[in-house]
Amino acid sequence: MSGAPDSRPRLRISTRAVHSGLNPAENSGAITAPIFQSATFVAADTAELMAINTGERRGYVYSRIRNPTVLAAEQRVAALEEAHSCVLFSSGMAAIAGAIAPFIRAGDDLVALPDIYGGTAKYLRTILPAQGVNVIWAKGLEAADVAAAVTPKTRVIYAETPTNPLVRVVDLVAISEVARGIGAKLIVDGTLGSPMNQRPLTLGADVVVHSATKYLNGHGDLLVGAVCGDRALTRDIRNLQQVSGAVVDAHSAWLLMRGMATYALRMRQHNMSGHAIAEFLAGRAEVARVLYPGLPDHPDHALARRQMSGFGGLMSFEMHDAEAAQAVVDRTRLFGIGPSVGGVESLISQPGNTSHFSVPPEQRHAMGISDKLVRVSVGIEDIEDLIADLEQALEAAR
Ligand code: PLP
Repeated sequence: MSGAPDSRPRLRISTRAVHSGLNPAENSGAITAPIFQSATFVAADTAELMAINTGERRGYVYSRIRNPTVLAAEQRVAALEEAHSCVLFSSGMAAIAGAIAPFIRAGDDLVALPDIYGGTAKYLRTILPAQGVNVIWAKGLEAADVAAAVTPKTRVIYAETPTNPLVRVVDLVAISEVARGIGAKLIVDGTLGSPMNQRPLTLGADVVVHSATKYLNGHGDLLVGAVCGDRALTRDIRNLQQVSGAVVDAHSAWLLMRGMATYALRMRQHNMSGHAIAEFLAGRAEVARVLYPGLPDHPDHALARRQMSGFGGLMSFEMHDAEAAQAVVDRTRLFGIGPSVGGVESLISQPGNTSHFSVPPEQRHAMGISDKLVRVSVGIEDIEDLIADLEQALEAAR
């Protein structure tokens, strides 16, 4: 366990999830990362302080600038994502804002794909335009839609895959070619795939962002965001973060480290149970249609098979009417009614009441998010218990 495990690229993802970011030899042999719960780090003398300030010597001064526990967690996320480097933020939304900001100025264009998380949609619709950025929405999710939307002033293309809550899959190789053609950065929210199932940086994205609140941490006990990419890009992102201040604290970083140790195990279960529940729902007469990229009738199934190695625990399904959708949500017993995805516990909701509550109904409906839609995040409980619970809820909702 000595040395730097992250520097050995042949290690598989389950191993990286456990070992990366740790160096027990540096920490009295501790097998977990110590929690450096300290705002300030003092130097032995002014010469040492200046050596740390100028980067001549590795060290710490102040936790908004850098903290050893946070650094360990960043190394682990980077190792999972096969990225050069990672910057952690205080939430997924802070990571999204922090990933976009260094690459866009007032007067520039940002092209966004239309099917994205409600919080991100609100940020792009309200905050960025108020700062003078022209946000252009592509007409669809295809590379041709993006190519039609870009202009000579486009600096950033923003995509999410799979999307939330319609679970569409976006062709990153094709869209990254559009981005490269105009010299724009492709920023991808990879939260719902997560690194075990897809690695956007290997498919042409410049930067990948995560709500690490979801699969990476997996235990529903903290908010944290991550931005991964090439060191030249993450340096700009970190420089801005150091003054804008949306950093994660050492204790949350430590919880994330612990959550990630079981990431690969959990993800295998999410993939398996997600598939089984999607197939169960697809076979039920009460359900009008199931949106899960692992099912052969999903519009992006072929692309998902090329781009992803598993399809995760998130799916949506449409009931025949809005009343039945609400009834099935209300009748489940094991599935908690609430937002978020990617945790050990299963959750269910109508996206209009959770992830897209902040999007006005007419915009929501135009995005394809109807009131008949139900979103399920499948946790790691026993699959037979989950299916039995959904079965009784569907029967009660008839
Ligand atoms: N991206 C996606 C795809 C999400 O689902 C969410 C939250 O649900 C976010 C970003 C925002 O993350 P956070 O809640 O950690 O700020």
